[in-house]
Amino acid sequence: MLSISGSTGEGGGQILRSALALSMVTGKSVHVEKVRAGRPKPGLLRQHLTAVLAAAKISGAELGGAHLGSRELWFTPGCVQPGDYSFAIGSAGSTTLVLQTILPALLTPDGPSTISFEGGTHNPHAPPFDFLEQAFVPLVNRMGPTVSLALDRYGFYPAGGGRISARIEPVPKLKPLELTERGATRQCMATAIVAGLPSEIGDRELAVVAKELNWPADSLHVRHLPTGHGPGNVLLLTIASDSGTELFTGFGQRGVRAEMVAARVAGQVRDFLAADVPVGPYMADQLLLPLALAGGGSFVTMPLSPHSLTNMEIIQKFLDVRIVAREVRPGVWQVDVTRD
Ligand code: AMP
Repeated sequence: MLSISGSTGEGGGQILRSALALSMVTGKSVHVEKVRAGRPKPGLLRQHLTAVLAAAKISGAELGGAHLGSRELWFTPGCVQPGDYSFAIGSAGSTTLVLQTILPALLTPDGPSTISFEGGTHNPHAPPFDFLEQAFVPLVNRMGPTVSLALDRYGFYPAGGGRISARIEPVPKLKPLELTERGATRQCMATAIVAGLPSEIGDRELAVVAKELNWPADSLHVRHLPTGHGPGNVLLLTIASDSGTELFTGFGQRGVRAEMVAARVAGQVRDFLAADVPVGPYMADQLLLPLALAGGGSFVTMPLSPHSLTNMEIIQKFLDVRIVAREVRPGVWQVDVTRD
């Protein structure tokens, strides 16, 4: 049984999610100790427990330590069974992170899957639904499978109540992916989503985007959700280039001015555009696993985040791949994944 420490590097939930995904794909049993040791509330929260139970369900795994608050988990996978599943987190925990835990195992088995998830769809510290739909999944699809996503109902932290669904048509083997040049920018778009809050929040955010990024008025949109949603506010900044789409998100927060939320995310976009790379820092840590499963690929990105460095370490414990990062120009890094 492979032993993984949840205190490795950045010490968050991604270590657990990657370990579950890799265990299902390789068939290797795993023992994760010190689960989320680097977080203020360590152990399995609802979102992580749902990811564990979802992984166990689709792979017929035997489990030990799978309870709320647990800091240790034993996971022995059986055979991955594609099919129809639904999973409810029971809180505003991130549905997208639960989806990302089981998606890798469903990209290459014999049949299609349809899965729905209930919980949060736009949570701080997690990819918002739009990031998966517009940025991450299109890259996964270039590797061969056909994954399509639907946002059935918004769920903002802390109220939750959202629902997303995924349809996955697998392929026998993933193809490597090369993302080394960004190419020309095709479209930039800002969308401020406002639910159950004053609509001027979205206008104030877009005014900051227009000023900081010099984006024209016809690229700025406010979307008001009907009553019954929220409260919640997110600002989504999308950059579509020849190489693909990147998406940066500002999460509205009680006590933080809308201008500040917008200025922070505009700063992320400015850094990304200035670096002239195809892959942003969040995408980088999330692309590592599909590339490693394909047994090859490269991407060029910004300085690697602790999430990326930690994920590289965890992946190489399970798979015979070598992941090497080198600085190709100041502040720009190329990550190469090759079979060991
Ligand atoms: P962890 O903190 O270990 O639970 O991992 C969080 C995951 O969410 C990482 O894969 C991050 O790249 C991802 N993530 C966090 N914030 C964002 C964001 N704003 N956009 C896209 N992905 C994000």
